[in-house]
Amino acid sequence: VNHLRKKMYGSLNPQQYEAVTADIHKPLQIIAGPGTGKTKVLTSRVAYLLIEHKIPPSNIIVTTFTKKAANEMVERLQTLFVKENLDPSKYLKGLLIGTFHSICVKLLRRYGTLIGLSSKFKIADEQDSNTILNKVLTSLSDDVIRLKVHPSSVSIDIYQKDAKETDKLDGYDLKKVKSQISKLKSLTTTPQIYSATSARSFDLAVIYSLYQESLRKHNLIDFDDCLLYTYLLLSETKLKGVVLLKELKHVLVDEFQDTNKIQMELLYLLGRCTEDQKFEDNVTVVGDSDQSIYMFRNAVASNFENMITHYQNCQQITLKENYRSTSNILNFSEQIMTQQKDRKQKSLRSQKSHLNIPIVYVRTQNTFKEADHIASEIAKLGLMPSLLTNYNDIAILLRSSFQSRVIEQSLVTNRIPYEVVHGRAFWELKEIRVAMDYLRAVVNDSDKLAILRTLNFPPRGVGNKTLQKLEELIDKSNCSVIETLEMAIDDKKNGFLNVKSENGVSQYIDILKECGKLLDSGSLDCETSLEACFDQIVKLANLKEIKKTLETSKRTHDSEIALKAVEENLNEFKRQLVEYKPIIDQIITTETDDTSLTPRDVLSNFLDSIDLYETSNNENKKDSKKGRVTISTIHGAKGLEWPVVFIPGCTDGVIPSKWTLEDNGPNSSTNLDEDRRCFYVALTRAKSLLYLSSYKERSTPWSGEESNEVSCFLKPTLKLFQEQLVTSISKMSRNSWKDLYEAMGKEYKSVSKVLTESNRSRDHIVSTKDFLQSKQFKSPLLNKSTSAPTYVPDRSNHK
Ligand code: ATP
Ligand code: MG
Repeated sequence: VNHLRKKMYGSLNPQQYEAVTADIHKPLQIIAGPGTGKTKVLTSRVAYLLIEHKIPPSNIIVTTFTKKAANEMVERLQTLFVKENLDPSKYLKGLLIGTFHSICVKLLRRYGTLIGLSSKFKIADEQDSNTILNKVLTSLSDDVIRLKVHPSSVSIDIYQKDAKETDKLDGYDLKKVKSQISKLKSLTTTPQIYSATSARSFDLAVIYSLYQESLRKHNLIDFDDCLLYTYLLLSETKLKGVVLLKELKHVLVDEFQDTNKIQMELLYLLGRCTEDQKFEDNVTVVGDSDQSIYMFRNAVASNFENMITHYQNCQQITLKENYRSTSNILNFSEQIMTQQKDRKQKSLRSQKSHLNIPIVYVRTQNTFKEADHIASEIAKLGLMPSLLTNYNDIAILLRSSFQSRVIEQSLVTNRIPYEVVHGRAFWELKEIRVAMDYLRAVVNDSDKLAILRTLNFPPRGVGNKTLQKLEELIDKSNCSVIETLEMAIDDKKNGFLNVKSENGVSQYIDILKECGKLLDSGSLDCETSLEACFDQIVKLANLKEIKKTLETSKRTHDSEIALKAVEENLNEFKRQLVEYKPIIDQIITTETDDTSLTPRDVLSNFLDSIDLYETSNNENKKDSKKGRVTISTIHGAKGLEWPVVFIPGCTDGVIPSKWTLEDNGPNSSTNLDEDRRCFYVALTRAKSLLYLSSYKERSTPWSGEESNEVSCFLKPTLKLFQEQLVTSISKMSRNSWKDLYEAMGKEYKSVSKVLTESNRSRDHIVSTKDFLQSKQFKSPLLNKSTSAPTYVPDRSNHK
């Protein structure tokens, strides 16, 4: 190694250096805990291969778990090169870096024709594959035909369905079948292989074959096929002439614990793809089995052992120094993991062990109080002189996206800019947008935009051209939008609508009328009317199935989680709507005497308040200098780190999830373990300050309060760590404040100066003035229980 490259390797500790420079002609496995620099090592090893071994970038493949992680790694690489005064573009051009899926798609585009794929294949999105699978399933439940697979010839015959076999075929659950197929694919099992196995289910074999056939006919490959076809390509074709692969010299994999069987097989195959024997089996993988959180997508944690068996000459290196977190955070998370049976204990050393910063834990009455706590703690941090210079330093990590609404609301109220990554802000979620548009259309029969957006959503046979024509008609008309639509239906002479779109439009109008009737029935109380109207919209517009309807929904790692979340989100939205009533009442009773608001009035006020919310949020988005708080799912936060991390909802039913707790099946303890690891991933994202919170109740207006225990993962650990916990940073000792400043790389300013300074400071991150006036910004959306946060640090402990 060129010893001049001090800047490039100088910051590595001896084990990391050993890993980076380990023999490149042998497989290498680095297993180490969070924050030990695995990703750093992997990145440096790529640089090492490029510079010291002069391997061309196009001969190296690097896989990461998300696109974001790939971007981060490229950035880290660029920095390394710039530090050495080397031109990054020269060294990195052609490097194959991305997720397994994206790399496989690249290979298939180039070489897919070798296994009979069209070069112009399209990747089926969620909707495409659902439609196709649905067709397959309906054709099977159809009494007329029955399909049979000949295991020997693997051809498919259609024959009359046997009366006895009818029952078996009815009632397929699309989701279940889909995940079964996905699982087969993740195990490298093609329809042919599956049909030939003795343990096959006859029906699944048929469905799987037909599904694959049909995808192929449409020139589609689904998400899992990207891997499956690449696997077939690499294992079945003679690779002579496959230019890229014969020159392949190294394959590196980050987050190895989350790879499934097919990805591992791909790794082995890629390792073989080289003309130069010296470079055979040159693979480097890094990972941490404690952070395996994709078992639900068929990841296999035993991949590490499998690799050792597969390669007899596999080198293994572990890293022990943790550079990310303070020892309080590290010990706390380690303690959580010791609950898992059969786990090797980790002995990570924190590089920040001299810093003693307590963990902040509170148990709040409900989700609103929890959200207020978060906002007020962020505000307190912002008020400390020169401690928090950018909101990008803060992340709020959620197990479930339904948690985000209440938190977002509190952040907006307190003018704290935020960004929801790996998911959309609550009000921007498609299901919420559509529900809102329907509500708008019900309330206001002239709301053109909302009506035009929902007229053909879900699809009712009204094409884009017709929509355009209708819009022109509406613009010219003096009547309400709905009346104009009705006229268009009646106007048979001018033939405005063909039969299909006529049906569609009248169906749509019926929906609005039916929902409107529920709203105006008068026989129900306001809350019940709103609820009934909302439920009807959800039902008639088929909102729970919205993911199937969406054309644009791409299948991402988080979308499976999101799928489960649609219903939760809609419930959350309903809750918000129904709860809105008392607030209006409050405002109305103080301002006017008219308390007899109709459900229609309430609904229209509610919708206005959301518009207000949106305006204020857009304002926030513009302000980029201050950065933004990150709101992310835990799954989306993998591999990342922040100085300040909040984990709300440390409550049974969230962490671990309701599904896990209610599951008494054979997988229940595996699921519990996975949820625990998920919690562990969240905890270990924090560098300096970790906030945990649990709530006692989540209020549901229709069924009263739902009470929640403290997370069963957290309970035993809280007791052990009592001494290291505070309920707010304002309760921290002076020494801890000093440590916090050091941990965040900032110069300590005496807490006693805080108030005077922050009052003086004009460009403070949360301007005190803004903050004091925050009552002014109180939107009607603000829940009763949301009080302005107390921002003054409690100085009683700092004497
Ligand atoms: P995870 O398991 O969460 O993916 P990781 O093992 O990949 O974590 P990295 O993200 O590579 O860890 O590193 C964690 C942090 O520690 C980063 O901020 C990194 O820059 C820093 N770090 C790693 N090694 C060193 C070192 N030798 N000196 C200083 N900082 C380091
Ligand atoms: Mg990493």
